[in-house]
Amino acid sequence: MPTVAIPSLLRNLTSGEESITVPGATIREVIDNLEERYPGMKARLCEEDRIKPGIAIYVNGLLTRGSLLERVDADAEIHFLPAIGGGISETETLQPIPDGLVVLTFDDGNKSDYKYVGPLLKRYGFGATFFITEGLNFLHNKAHYVTWAEIRELHEAGFEIGNHTRHHKHANTQSKEELLSDLIHIDKRCEAYGIPIPETFGYPADCRGPEAIEVLSEKGYRFARRGIGPEFPFHPEGGRGPAYDPDVHHPLVIPSTGVPGPNYGFEDLVWAVEQAKDRKIAVLTFHGVPALEHPWVDVPPEQFKTYMDYLRDSGCTVIALRDLAKYVDASESDGKSITYWP
Ligand SMILES: [Zn+2]
Repeated sequence: MPTVAIPSLLRNLTSGEESITVPGATIREVIDNLEERYPGMKARLCEEDRIKPGIAIYVNGLLTRGSLLERVDADAEIHFLPAIGGGISETETLQPIPDGLVVLTFDDGNKSDYKYVGPLLKRYGFGATFFITEGLNFLHNKAHYVTWAEIRELHEAGFEIGNHTRHHKHANTQSKEELLSDLIHIDKRCEAYGIPIPETFGYPADCRGPEAIEVLSEKGYRFARRGIGPEFPFHPEGGRGPAYDPDVHHPLVIPSTGVPGPNYGFEDLVWAVEQAKDRKIAVLTFHGVPALEHPWVDVPPEQFKTYMDYLRDSGCTVIALRDLAKYVDASESDGKSITYWP
């Protein structure tokens, strides 16, 4: 019987099983039999009776055309891989990067994500990514942190839910297994609430080493967002950072162009937007509006609104991190800049 290598992204469906042997003479039969054993698998691989455009199928190490009718031998070894590894023609549909392209991200699941930020951005038609962790006081203080039901509502309102790990530990101090398990924990919570498994990641406390980046890459993340360093001096109360240049920066080490806090003001926001030209993108990392437990990254609602008004009035295109896929081919990462921190 053919053997299917289960990509890490789907292993939550197989209770961690990495390799499954199932009967089937075609890709379709193999997937149907997988589905029978692991419900939910088919929806992750197929849409409308064909393989999802984002997925590449390898049989015995060779890239196939991705047809469900493809025949497979009894001893075939089948790999389903995100097309970011397979390089399926996403480039053909890439849009040119407009000036004024801004990515909005919000870390830590502050209550304001749901109470204030989500509703305001919805009115402005802006996209955004909310990076969720069950660390910090998420489990203990539901007055200060969103609930999973609220996170689901943010997803249903069209926002992206990104992975910020189970414990908010510094990823550069974790083993690969520990980081992976913390990521999968958030995946499972998302699945339980009908939220898609996150395809983007935000480094807790900006900490990252080579192993963390390997885990993200192996798990199939497209984009991951870091902080402002090492290019810009770290300031504990926020500051400016580099604009994201897709021709320079690795897609799993995308810098923050600004981390608003008490040391950050309107002129810094204007500066960030000014960097978003000539194929460069401004990526903003907010926390709570307000950040009730972390005053060093606090942004008061009135101030936040002046920022969003400025983005709207300057005609910025404001998107979630995942939406970068419209403009940037994340599979083209060879040789791009990777930095570690601290
Ligand atoms: Zn965080």
